[in-house]
Amino acid sequence: MHEMALMGDILQLVEKDARSRNMHQIEKIELIVGDLSNALPDALEMAFDVFRARGLALLSEQSRLVIRKEAARAKCTVCGFEYKPDTRLSICPECKLPSGILTAGETFKVQSYEGS
Ligand SMILES: [Zn+2]
Repeated sequence: MHEMALMGDILQLVEKDARSRNMHQIEKIELIVGDLSNALPDALEMAFDVFRARGLALLSEQSRLVIRKEAARAKCTVCGFEYKPDTRLSICPECKLPSGILTAGETFKVQSYEGS
């Protein structure tokens, strides 16, 4: 489960930033996770719970993880058709060429966090 490592990296970054702002606890972390980002929201939640249970990275019982999903979108470079792809490399449903490029859905980032 690589979400454990991903969450570890996220918490490290957030903790470092929070400490530099003299914060002592993290109340909420908001992530954006694309449908095709290779990170599973459920697994991220589980990883977050594990870190929180250990009291790491300024987390406490009250700390919350909010995951906002980003739907996948692709645009065909040949005909310009926009659609919802199931994979990173996809066939354009209009012209049937493998020319769709992702315009959304690969995002994996910390949108914001709140601490005090
Ligand atoms: Zn096309």
